[in-house]
Amino acid sequence: MSKVLVVGCGGVASVAIAKICQNSKVFTEMCIASRTISKCEAMKEKWQPTTSVRITTAQLDANDKAQVVALMKSFQPEVLLHVGMPYHNLVLMEACVECGVHYIDTAAYEPENTDEPVWRAQYEKRCREKGFVAYFDYADQWSYFDKFAQTGITGLLGAGFDPGVTSVFTAYALKHYFDKIEYIDILDCNGGDHGYPFATNFNTDINLREVSAPADYWENGKWIGVPAMSIKKVYDFPEVGKKDMYLLHHEEIESLAKNIPGIKRMRFYMTFGQSYLTHMKCLENVGMLSTTPVMFEGREIVPIQFLKALMPDPSSLGPRTVGKTNIGCIFTGYKDGQKKTIYIYNVCDHQEAYREVGSQAISYTTGVPAMIAAALLATKTWKAKGVFNLEEFDPDPFMEMLNEFGLPWKVEENPVLVD
Ligand code: NDP
Repeated sequence: MSKVLVVGCGGVASVAIAKICQNSKVFTEMCIASRTISKCEAMKEKWQPTTSVRITTAQLDANDKAQVVALMKSFQPEVLLHVGMPYHNLVLMEACVECGVHYIDTAAYEPENTDEPVWRAQYEKRCREKGFVAYFDYADQWSYFDKFAQTGITGLLGAGFDPGVTSVFTAYALKHYFDKIEYIDILDCNGGDHGYPFATNFNTDINLREVSAPADYWENGKWIGVPAMSIKKVYDFPEVGKKDMYLLHHEEIESLAKNIPGIKRMRFYMTFGQSYLTHMKCLENVGMLSTTPVMFEGREIVPIQFLKALMPDPSSLGPRTVGKTNIGCIFTGYKDGQKKTIYIYNVCDHQEAYREVGSQAISYTTGVPAMIAAALLATKTWKAKGVFNLEEFDPDPFMEMLNEFGLPWKVEENPVLVD
């Protein structure tokens, strides 16, 4: 009998919830808890008739540890699956330690206001020491390792697709294809079209903050920082076609640099269309991407939150998005002394995802792995105590469940390399 507490009820959560309902072999009860209770109740109404998993709902402010603890004490879950905002990761991790509940999230902690002086000073010090330029990292969450280990619980960080499945692909490549991996290029291609001139396909503020931030990559044991969107490549993706892609910082290159020794270079690329980039640049130039509150007509507003309120809700893009995603990793390394290269990837069709669960492929490719991670902890298939990234576990059960739950993957030998 496994009980899971799902925190958040947006685009990614709606897929994780649907997939938990499909996995009643593992999950017997689920509580959906989020800021807007009506959304949780709508989810319950949609999925309860399809499943034997008993669904309950709760109104929850994930910023308030006392509320989270009270909910966990009454619901008694084995696992808290956090698919809300990364601003709340640390509060939820604290609550998990207090209640002895496993913790999972899909994005690294970042504060809501990145100009907040205390956080900013600590962060800049850390960046100088590490040679890091991106504005989010895992240091705050990794520092919970001892508390989790002493409590006897597991924290799984970044259990979406990227980070998440890309981390598992790396562990799988190392287990089955290589003695040593030297180069990794992680490619995230969204070949989908929603018909809007400008919209984000997951949470608007996190997406815009990630894309407009300075980028970096790992080379020869150190971080190389470059301005946002300054490195562009074109790649011909299987089943999608040629797309422009840009180098970004991304969580998994930080954890892989720590956990996979001997990597000479690691880069992360994401595809963007020109319309998206032009809109984003204009908005950035006029200050609309700022996370610092400003006074407007006598009341305080946060520019990026105001922008988010005007833009299409990512969870409403499902019915109008057509095309496919192709996300995967190109690995180059050695097996039995022979140099080799493979591309491990998944292709996900936006409309097929929408027909199955009512969401587009970006939410689908994140929500499915989040459920798999929860199932692997609930069944004690993955059971180390402490705080971890997904590449630190046996990848095989996860890879099998990707095939079973809608994200089949392929291995291509000798793919075209990113130059
Ligand atoms: P959404 O904006 O659709 O959903 C966020 C949810 O969090 C909403 O339900 C929102 O409630 C809820 N929420 C916000 N504040 C609070 C609060 N104080 N207390 C309780 N609930 C709150 O985001 P997405 O579903 O698109 O993204 C979810 C997460 O997944 C993000 O962290 C994102 O970065 C991550 N992600 C990870 C990917 C990966 O591959 N690893 C890929 C894509 C996304 P309300 O409904 O009231 O607004």
